[in-house]
Amino acid sequence: MICTRHEATILTDPIPFNPLQSARRDIVALGIAVAAVLMLIGTGGSVLPQTLRALLGSGGRPDVILANALLLNIALIIFGWRRYRELLREIEVRRQAEARAQVLAATDPLTHCLNRRAMLDATEQMRLRAAARGDVVAYCMIDLDNFKQINDMHGHAAGDAVLVTLCERIRKLLPRDAHLARLGGDEFAIVTSFPAGNTDRVDDLVIRLFADMAEPFCLTDVTIELTMSIGVAADVETDSGAGSAGDAATLLHRADMALYHAKKQGRNRYFWFETGMEAELRFRNQLETGIRRGLALGEFVPFYEQQVDLDTGTLVGFEMLARWRSPQLGLISPEIFVPIAEEIGLITEMSEKLMDQAFRDAREWDESLTLSINISPVQLRDPWFAQRLLKRLVAAGFPARRLEIEITESCLHENIGLVRSMIVSLRNQGVKISLDDFGTGYSSFEQLRDLPFDRIKIDRSFVSELRHQDKRSRIVEAIVSLGRGLDLPLTAEGVEDEEILNALKSMGRLKAQGYFYGQPEDADAVRARLQSAGRLIQSSALGASPAPTPDSGTEQSTFRTA
Ligand code: C2E
Ligand code: CA
Ligand code: CA
Repeated sequence: MICTRHEATILTDPIPFNPLQSARRDIVALGIAVAAVLMLIGTGGSVLPQTLRALLGSGGRPDVILANALLLNIALIIFGWRRYRELLREIEVRRQAEARAQVLAATDPLTHCLNRRAMLDATEQMRLRAAARGDVVAYCMIDLDNFKQINDMHGHAAGDAVLVTLCERIRKLLPRDAHLARLGGDEFAIVTSFPAGNTDRVDDLVIRLFADMAEPFCLTDVTIELTMSIGVAADVETDSGAGSAGDAATLLHRADMALYHAKKQGRNRYFWFETGMEAELRFRNQLETGIRRGLALGEFVPFYEQQVDLDTGTLVGFEMLARWRSPQLGLISPEIFVPIAEEIGLITEMSEKLMDQAFRDAREWDESLTLSINISPVQLRDPWFAQRLLKRLVAAGFPARRLEIEITESCLHENIGLVRSMIVSLRNQGVKISLDDFGTGYSSFEQLRDLPFDRIKIDRSFVSELRHQDKRSRIVEAIVSLGRGLDLPLTAEGVEDEEILNALKSMGRLKAQGYFYGQPEDADAVRARLQSAGRLIQSSALGASPAPTPDSGTEQSTFRTA
């Protein structure tokens, strides 16, 4: 059993232990031995002189009963003493076992750090000691970024090895009084104290942690790089403007909020808790509740963005973009609600509802028009994703050849084998696969060559560069020539004006989409657009659709994050 300096100091609830019971047994055995000694003195006092006299031939034989009582006494003393020694040994073994059980109950078996419960106690105790000295306690909540990917890509044994090494490295950097805890899978915490007004001590520690983390983890057959996010809170008012935290639980909660903020700001960074973060989290909880309710009430609707052949200007299809029509908050962008739906495990349900609606809408469109749908990396983790999608297509009676799914480069890091088999089974049924937001992630040339994509979409952040820099963007040019080299058709996103359009036209055959052709619109607006262009199936049978109002039909009022 390895027990570190930290674990040795912990005080947690002991395993149920009844010291009186063993003490009583102890006293009984000792009592027997003491009584036997007293009796020995009593009986021995008369039997021994008699025996001595008998042996010297100057007296008669000693009383048989008294002699037997003496022998019994001696036997009792030996028994009582041995029993007493045994019990002492037993008590020692039990004491050690209980101490071990206490350590086990308070530590994480893999890393031997404190566990969540023990950390709470250790923090509270540190707070009391620090308050007596006039010091401040800082609690650092640490979360490893994308640790799940490491487990998925290299296996759990490698993941465990990284965690163990990480803890060894962190321990070396900790001040003497600090505790390190593993709170869950890839969540850790450090609690330490510092003299009031010296928050820079904590900043220094955190910076050293980040510097250490920048060193890759070299395992036997693989080298792993890792980042982390940290949220820090102090129990007494600091420069961050947050008032005192009245107890350990509040301190932990604050560090958690700061961590959440660090994650939202893009991970691999740390933040001290500030009061505004509480409101941020409250808003996020409101959104979460709203999303759950909105999903049940059908508030999530598909909007559609036109996709056009750049050369001819002909409409060739639509990309479905989700919108949340919240009665309280208005029209909300997927950039706000998709990440939350992913986190709270609702993205598959949401996406499937939207898809069903989109298939129904698109069935009315001209058969030459395609429908593109964005798929979250979270959905691709489901090994049955392809089957579920195909089943829905069949149920909706929408032809697979008209469907294109868009996956981002981040999907390729999750489980490339699984993604490949999904792509293959979907393509076998006629569904096309686009690589979305190309250039913003980290897909390798090898992945591009090996995975059978049907199209690359150039992210609008690169396309917008065509407006400046002499209407040239080396990145767009490079992506276009890469697509040509790999024989992959391309779509340029974010065509906002004629300037960009003309720059793209000079680069060859492309598909394009963007506000130049129109903002994303709801189903009614699209139907009206297609009807006037004579591109609705059995348009005469469908009847006139209500003309969309700018506010309800287009995304001008969409609520976005800053
Ligand atoms: P995306 O796939 O890159 O979609 C294009 C985004 O760019 C859309 O934002 C669209 O409204 C916007 N956009 C289109 N043309 C222009 C333009 O000319 N200029 C500018 N500035 N922006 C333009 P939106 O609809 O807010 O979607 C944001 C992202 O949310 C999408 O990025 C997509 O990754 C994701 N998303 C949308 N719908 C869904 C969905 O149903 N499921 C999943 N998983 N993700 C979705
Ligand atoms: Ca897309
Ligand atoms: Ca994009």
